[in-house]
Amino acid sequence: MDFSLNEEQVILLEGFKRFLESDIRPIADEYRDKFIPKDMALDIQKRLIPFGVVNGMVSESDGGMDLDQVTYGLLMHELARVSPDIAVTTQIYGITTKLMSAAPKHLKAKYQRDLMDCNTAASVGLSEPDGGSDMAGVKLRAKKDGDNYILNGEKTWNSSGGYSDFIFVLANFSDGSSDQGLGLILVERNHGYQTKDLEKTALNSQSTAQVFFNDVKVPAENVVVSAPNAMKSMLGTLAMSRPIVTMMALGIAQAALDEALSFAKDRKQFGGPIAGKQMIQDKLATMATKIEAGKLMALKALDQIDRGAPDQVHVAMTKWYGTELACEVVYDAVQIHGASGIIREYLVEYLNRAVRVFPFTEGTTEIQKLIIGRALTGISAF
Ligand SMILES: Cc1cc2nc3c(=O)[nH]c(=O)nc-3n(C[C@H](O)[C@H](O)[C@H](O)COP(=O)(O)OP(=O)(O)OC[C@H]3O[C@@H](n4cnc5c(N)ncnc54)[C@H](O)[C@@H]3O)c2cc1C
Repeated sequence: MDFSLNEEQVILLEGFKRFLESDIRPIADEYRDKFIPKDMALDIQKRLIPFGVVNGMVSESDGGMDLDQVTYGLLMHELARVSPDIAVTTQIYGITTKLMSAAPKHLKAKYQRDLMDCNTAASVGLSEPDGGSDMAGVKLRAKKDGDNYILNGEKTWNSSGGYSDFIFVLANFSDGSSDQGLGLILVERNHGYQTKDLEKTALNSQSTAQVFFNDVKVPAENVVVSAPNAMKSMLGTLAMSRPIVTMMALGIAQAALDEALSFAKDRKQFGGPIAGKQMIQDKLATMATKIEAGKLMALKALDQIDRGAPDQVHVAMTKWYGTELACEVVYDAVQIHGASGIIREYLVEYLNRAVRVFPFTEGTTEIQKLIIGRALTGISAF
């Protein structure tokens, strides 16, 4: 396996990094902990489209760039390094444009172009107040009523949910008399769902929302994946997305290492820069090694997906280990800053809050370990 970058990747990444520094860094700095309004959020995503991060995973026949996963992961790593918040919005575009490209033709004809051009925003509704890790425990019901489904229930933690124009909703389908299992249905805001943004520790410049469905009437033709097949399809989507999330967490870790290095060279104690002290160098070396280890795991997972041979166990190892390593790196970056590490004007203070999201979003560390444990023992513990 060779992870050295080819010429095309080098050019793409170098151009992307220049764009991030000139166009995204100033926004990230100004809007740290401050909500970016919808129009502006969509405009930022439009400017990211040419680099392939928004809908780059969509096939060329569907109007996408058909990027390989390794390249996509490297780009998302750089984006999260500059703005974890904007990267989350972009990643949701990555998932929703991918879900859309697998939707029936009539739905693609109606919704795909505007989504891929970032004229609309979509969200993914899996988690519920009583069902996070236990995805199969979905309570939201979609009950058949003539040519429609009537939806009742609640979703939560929907990234981009607060300003979503539509949501891919995982629901328990019923034909009116009996349950059919989990299906995926596209629900427009016009159909009548309500949203409420959640205030989080970090990532507050993008929306994470609760979504309420009270007798929301949705045409039956909006079914994206019919029951009972949605669980399998969503697990497949998450397995592709988890190494990307890991690359993003490690991007935040890289930003923290960058900050720690610069601080350690400037800060003088006991007659010289702390960068010259052996215990600080130990930390810096460990941080750099952890990032390298996590990236190698994620790149292997992405390469396996590119080769058409995804390995769910390796993905689970990558997700839990890589995101936990990222948290450890940021923790050490704060330590290197001393008391300054908890002051708002220092970026590491923010990175320390932002990275904490990653060991549970898209499947917690514990659930990833249970997947690995099941493969090792043949016994499912969940
Ligand atoms: C910023 C952010 C964005 C998100 N975006 C989205 C989104 O767009 N769409 C969406 O649907 N969801 C989204 N989520 C939700 C995310 O996927 C869930 O947080 C995650 O699935 C875990 O669910 P939970 O938080 O309800 O924790 P729970 O499932 O309640 O788990 C609580 C704790 O118990 C542990 N646990 C649970 N079951 C077991 C078990 N069997 N054995 C051992 N330990 C166990 C967990 O690991 C965890 O530590 C987002 C979350 C955040 C924070």
